[in-house]
Amino acid sequence: MAKQHKAVALISGGLDSLLAVRVLQEQGIEVEGINFYTGFCVEGHTHAIRNHDKDKKKRNNALWAAEQLGIKLHIVDVIEEYKDVLLNPKHGYGANMNPCLDCKIFMVSKAVEWVKENHENGFDFIITGEVIGQRPMSQRKETMPIVANESGAEDILLRPLCAKNLPATKPELEGWVDREKLFDFSGRNRKPQMALAKKYGFTDYASPAGGCCFLTDKNYSDKLVDLWKGRGTREYEMDDIMLLKVGRHLRPKPEYKLIIARDAGESKFLEGYRKQFTNIQALSHNGPLTLVDGNMPDEEIEIAAGIVARYGQGRDAAQVEIQVSIPGSEPKKIQIKPLSMDEVLEEWHV
Ligand code: SF4
Repeated sequence: MAKQHKAVALISGGLDSLLAVRVLQEQGIEVEGINFYTGFCVEGHTHAIRNHDKDKKKRNNALWAAEQLGIKLHIVDVIEEYKDVLLNPKHGYGANMNPCLDCKIFMVSKAVEWVKENHENGFDFIITGEVIGQRPMSQRKETMPIVANESGAEDILLRPLCAKNLPATKPELEGWVDREKLFDFSGRNRKPQMALAKKYGFTDYASPAGGCCFLTDKNYSDKLVDLWKGRGTREYEMDDIMLLKVGRHLRPKPEYKLIIARDAGESKFLEGYRKQFTNIQALSHNGPLTLVDGNMPDEEIEIAAGIVARYGQGRDAAQVEIQVSIPGSEPKKIQIKPLSMDEVLEEWHV
């Protein structure tokens, strides 16, 4: 009996990886999925936290895609290892802090490693949903061999959606996969993918717009760079990544910034950080919980409290009672006049 060939697919949760898997399933290949969690993934976070987005579906798209495809999904935490990719990308950054080409190489190399570690499961090759010309930095004709070579995957990396535009890989040469039934998609036009999705009956897939992570977002990238500048080091922890996704970030002085919740959902989320961070909240009026990240000098407390008062329901009051809690000390209560928007902007250094 002919050997059943197996592939592991990089699953981001987007349409392309969904289609790439289904194309191979149609050829009788057994596929399992792998999803790498860098901490910057867009999946769910802000929708799950903000009241504002409560009508949006809260789902993990990678899990959803795996469920649609009927495949096993392995979610691998790469938060620590990913730091080097983000901090020292050999191929540089995209429009924002997104090191897409290095990221792709890293993820495919992790898949190669994973296949070796799980050799008893007999995976023969790796697939991705990459399409030539789809992304300006990482998915170009010239970058396709770079990803294959620098990841160590070489000819066991197959891109079913654009394989016909690339040299044949081992699965095609060995006849495990019929090259004729693969595709030659290229460019940013999504119509061929949408038509294929329709053919396979996929309707509710994640929007193709945007990247797979927050690093492609200008706002997020600016906040990340500001954090590094403020701390004088580019080191970061998981909590930092999470907190950059939440709240309004204002930096009254280079040595500290305020993370002000934008709604009750975010205030609730920031509650979990009360023990780690100095925090400020209005007592006399409803208002957002605010964390202080960095070293706020004593003479700055009134300015910070005035800003926090400005973002609560006491913004037009003559005085607002504010509580400032420094972990390990007794909370301090102060009466403060809320700063006007102009004064807040004057203090805002981000
Ligand atoms: S968008 Fe983010 S996850 Fe996707 S390739 Fe670029 S850096 Fe990596």
